[in-house]
Amino acid sequence: MKTVDDFNFKNVRALVRVDFNVPLDNQFNITDDTRIRAAIPTLKKVLDDGGSLVIMSHFGRPKNLPEEKFSLKHTVPLLSKLLERPVIFAKDCIGAATKSLADNLKPGQVLLLENVRFHAEETKGAEGFAKELASLGDVYVNDAFGAAHRAHASTTTVAKFFPGKKMFGYLMAHELESIHKLMNQSRKPFTAILGGAKVSGKIAIISNLMDKVDNLIIGGGMAYTFVEALGGKVGSSLVEEDRLGTALQVVADAISKNVKLYIPTDTVIADAFSNDATKKTCDIKAIPDGWMGLDIGPETEKEFARVIESSNTILWNGPMGVFEMENFEHGTKAIADAVVNATKKGAYSLIGGGDSVAAINKYKMTDEVSCVSTGGGAMLEGLEGHVLPGVAAVEEDVEKIAK
Ligand code: AMP
Repeated sequence: MKTVDDFNFKNVRALVRVDFNVPLDNQFNITDDTRIRAAIPTLKKVLDDGGSLVIMSHFGRPKNLPEEKFSLKHTVPLLSKLLERPVIFAKDCIGAATKSLADNLKPGQVLLLENVRFHAEETKGAEGFAKELASLGDVYVNDAFGAAHRAHASTTTVAKFFPGKKMFGYLMAHELESIHKLMNQSRKPFTAILGGAKVSGKIAIISNLMDKVDNLIIGGGMAYTFVEALGGKVGSSLVEEDRLGTALQVVADAISKNVKLYIPTDTVIADAFSNDATKKTCDIKAIPDGWMGLDIGPETEKEFARVIESSNTILWNGPMGVFEMENFEHGTKAIADAVVNATKKGAYSLIGGGDSVAAINKYKMTDEVSCVSTGGGAMLEGLEGHVLPGVAAVEEDVEKIAK
């Protein structure tokens, strides 16, 4: 994999695609700066080598027109502070004025372009637009893992204008290595923990993992579809009636592929979908009518933790229950603890995909696992075994060089 470490940026203008898609409050203050901080090592490498930076990113989902709340100018003060120098802001990502700012950049200087999604051509992956972006830099660096599954102009098309001069940033390289490690170099036993709301959202990952894992743990809302498919009574728990067959197929595949499948045995049930609902614990196969399962039970927590703590490779995607509600977060927290314990004992652990990442952040355990993915959709597609367009566009060239 070609990364910024393989290149000396002295007197070079690097066009860097980052993911600065951070949340803002009503006064346009950044409420979570993780994504900006995560890009800093790559940006610093360019500057420390004696290069200059042209930084581009998307920001929110504007309707192809400039909108104040989606302007990247709100990120300038923080970026300037983190890079310890002024940041020049280009009010448009293309055009003559921007080209002139880019052409006049001196080593050590930083130019941040306005939101690439203010142009409809960005999401269409339009070539003319990508070419204009490409004219702003001498080399292309892609460090936007969170956008790598999109075949957009700034993430994918632009790369074709940099033959032999394109590479990955540190963040992107780290995430790609994590997927590679998990899929191709896992130390056994390899345990995948899948939770979250629905079987339908996770079935592609389950299928792709079936040939790789030793243990498959199923929790969260989707567990109830499995329990019902196997003949249990789940009351008014979340069940996808049209996925009962899918669940049975997973059970059959696990048997034929020698994967140990773990489904919850007990559950915490509630008489309403509310944190204030009355709750009790029961056998997951015998949930009374009118009650719904919102978390895994204590016996299940113990069993899942035992499996996790005896694993050497762990993938966790999706919470074990409705962890947003304090009264139903115990199971998710217990699994987070088990993953941390296993990591302390030397296991490699990757937390990938939206809500388990939110959970690990909530419990402040980010530094106690091996990798927390920053790219929700991109990580899921990577785990499903898809080629990510943003990755392929950079790698194309590396393969040619290798041949
Ligand atoms: P996903 O995006 O598919 O990973 O789903 C995450 C969501 O699943 C979270 O918002 C959880 O609250 C929800 N969830 C987890 N367990 C349950 C459950 N037993 N019943 C309903 N929703 C659940």
